[in-house]
Amino acid sequence: MTERPALSLPAIHASHGGCWLRDGFATRGLGKGEAIVAAADTPLLMLNAPLVASRLGYPDLSGLDLLELFAFVHPARFMVPTPKGLAHALGLDEPAGDDKVPQLLQEAAEALLGTCERADWSEREGAWTALQSLVRMRWPWATLLTPRIRKPERAERWLFAKLPEWEETAERPQPAQVVLGETAVVSRLAELTGAGAEARPTQQDYAREASRMFAPRQGQGQPHVVLAQAGTGTGKTFGYLAPSSLWAEQSGGTVWVSTYTKALQRQLRRESRRAFPASRNGKPPVVVRKGRENYLCLLNLEDALQGGFAGRAAILAQLVARWAAYSQDGDMIGGDLPGWLGTLFRKRGIAALTDQRGECVYAGCPHYRKCFIERASRASADAELVIANHALVMVNAARGRDAAQRPTRIVFDEGHHVFEAADSTFSAALTGADTIELRRWVIGPEGKSRGRRRGLSARLADVASYDEEGERAITQAREAAESLPSEGWLARVVEGTPSGPLEELLSAARALAYARDESGGQEAGYGLETEIAQLEGGFIEVAGQAQEALEALRKPLVRLGLRLEAIVEDGPDWLDGPARARIEGARSAIGWRSDLIAGWIALLARLGGPGDPDFVDWIAVERSDGREWDVGLHRHYLDPMKPFANAVLAPSHGVMMTSATLRDGDDWQSAVERSGAPHLDIAPRLFSAESPFDYASQAEVLIVTDVPKGDIPALAAAYGRLIEAAGGGALGLFTAIRRLRAVYGRIADRLARGGLPLFAQHVDPIDTGTLVDIFRDDPRASLLGTDALRDGVDVPGDSLRLVVMEQVPWPKPSILHRARRLAGGGSAYDDRIIRARLAQAFGRLIRSGTDKGHFVVLSSAFPSRLLSAFPAGTPIRRVTLDVALQSVSSSVSGREDAPATPREEGIS
Ligand code: SF4
Repeated sequence: MTERPALSLPAIHASHGGCWLRDGFATRGLGKGEAIVAAADTPLLMLNAPLVASRLGYPDLSGLDLLELFAFVHPARFMVPTPKGLAHALGLDEPAGDDKVPQLLQEAAEALLGTCERADWSEREGAWTALQSLVRMRWPWATLLTPRIRKPERAERWLFAKLPEWEETAERPQPAQVVLGETAVVSRLAELTGAGAEARPTQQDYAREASRMFAPRQGQGQPHVVLAQAGTGTGKTFGYLAPSSLWAEQSGGTVWVSTYTKALQRQLRRESRRAFPASRNGKPPVVVRKGRENYLCLLNLEDALQGGFAGRAAILAQLVARWAAYSQDGDMIGGDLPGWLGTLFRKRGIAALTDQRGECVYAGCPHYRKCFIERASRASADAELVIANHALVMVNAARGRDAAQRPTRIVFDEGHHVFEAADSTFSAALTGADTIELRRWVIGPEGKSRGRRRGLSARLADVASYDEEGERAITQAREAAESLPSEGWLARVVEGTPSGPLEELLSAARALAYARDESGGQEAGYGLETEIAQLEGGFIEVAGQAQEALEALRKPLVRLGLRLEAIVEDGPDWLDGPARARIEGARSAIGWRSDLIAGWIALLARLGGPGDPDFVDWIAVERSDGREWDVGLHRHYLDPMKPFANAVLAPSHGVMMTSATLRDGDDWQSAVERSGAPHLDIAPRLFSAESPFDYASQAEVLIVTDVPKGDIPALAAAYGRLIEAAGGGALGLFTAIRRLRAVYGRIADRLARGGLPLFAQHVDPIDTGTLVDIFRDDPRASLLGTDALRDGVDVPGDSLRLVVMEQVPWPKPSILHRARRLAGGGSAYDDRIIRARLAQAFGRLIRSGTDKGHFVVLSSAFPSRLLSAFPAGTPIRRVTLDVALQSVSSSVSGREDAPATPREEGIS
């Protein structure tokens, strides 16, 4: 039955270094124009069509993308989406150069298609059924797959039948009060690090210190707070997992470990297996929890499969359904769904399949018992260790659906990010995007909008028919929501023809931002902002009307919440288990939306009155590349650790914040303030451990003094030459996307011709996680990026041997920053921020005892007071670019580096 057409298919590869086409059995180089014509004539085999399109400068390119085929054949399997990564994933030989890639693509196609014929293809189930749909959708691979995938003898189980159901479990008792013995903690640590491992006294000290957070609490609202700075390489993960696993075992409770980056979450998932090997009551001992918006919503997927998605998006839905059947936990963002899958398809297909907008109907959903989100939420209630992120921990602590699920023992790893996570969690934003979202949640689809979304009245139809007061509240909320911004609000606001009190307010706010902003953003196409102060009577009046409109919506929502509570308590006949769960879900959703509106009302109520010293309020017009996308009023706490202390610390029993960069140099003061503990009159325990790395011989900081600030050609030349000198393996960090793009545009082609591939955030059509995977996988690749890479990259070994910062990372001079700077000691506040950023960026370089590398800052006037950001003993030199190049290249070629002074004179 088998034809083998794959090898005869032409294949194309395009990099910054050129284009290669393999037609039949010969490969040749060709120009971009010819490559585009060839791709338009015949469907060509290619790897990552959007990337090839971007390299050719031809956005409409399509063809037989091997990434799509891989996602079909091996759903939920990891693969770095490069020729080398593809070769590794399929057990083929790595291509020796760009010109060998087209042949690899042919071999890979043959290997993948061949897999479908094999009896031992482990992901066969569901493939034939999915293929039938993909044939109808004219997926380019469908005709090649059809002769290879035999029709199953028995009908295949459909995804929704195949997924396991979660089960209700009894509530867990509260944890026992236990005191961990130091000897037990240290021997647990020894078990985790392995029998052959050398005992590390610093790690033992760290583990003993970490165990203090588990001591029984002595006063209500008085948790044990431990701040532990542990230099890179201390072994802090096992250091806190040892007492955590011991406490969970002895007390029967749950420990939450919270991270800021997905990279650390992945590492923890791996390492915690050793600390929590056994399952309690047959349940998984370790559960990764993320926000709902990360998980696949099966109801959204079903809708997409049944016509909700059209064209290419419908193909994406089929590939996601293949993945869902094999996924470990349904996590679409940073889980086992390949990060590159979404970027192969235009628009926001992946986001539309998650539960972004809180539209879940809980037990009203036919897939409720198989729902990934519900499963993760229930599993975490039974787990010994929950791995989560800072934002989720804070939201759960502040407004968790159920008290049993609130974290009470929390380790905040990457603790230096707790402040910014609290800052966004406890802030209010009354913007066009947020208010129209609220309107959709209350009213449901309007006009031509499609999809399964339903408004409040449709979701609570049974309540309305049973309870008159509830019905009245729903109707009133529905009517009040009419005053919120509706479809097309931004165009109306920009044109000055707002409709309704909230659009009026946004229009007035936008006008004020344009009138007052002096940030220079207007000309540069960036966002605008202005503080909320000195408002005219007209503005206050408009704000007053908006406030009334919000009050009119909030009141019926609060009443409805109370009615739902009463109905659950009454327990009418129709209130079976699923209906109860659905109403409780609705109650919680209504509760947090009422709180959201209350925050907006409080923000508006203060306009025109005396300023509240606890808050910073401003108006912002969000723009990128000159295009506006949102307008609104913002309110942040001057010190977000105040609400954090009340909502997260006070109800907890033990909290540890740990990081390699918690304190500023040797000074604990800002770390203590940023822990929130002083708001509860708690003096935290302080612990610090130096890194075991020998920075004097492993690293060197070079401050390059002769690249003029603002000179883009010089900046690009410096980056290009440094990357060449290092032979790739460079991470370039930028504070502005504009400069990143300009530098990338000038150097990528030249570097690629020299065999040094360059990738960049905000330029390449690849998600950040995948960019880091590509970078890690190829020691000759370099990566340019912005803030997110400063501490989201964990690349031990040879792939990262040079970090280049384009300039001193000054904080953005926003209104919020100005207020905090004023309260935090002026320039000393800025210095603390910059030192922390430098320390985090430096921390990317040396990840193991054998790593070596250079850290380069291009700055003609680097203040000496910032140099304490680098670990003691690190050699630091101020040099010209030429000297820096020599230093970098000589260490690459293995020659002894020029002797570096241990530390600049006068710096302690
Ligand atoms: S229970 Fe909610 S989140 Fe889960 S599949 Fe159904 S609608 Fe989606």
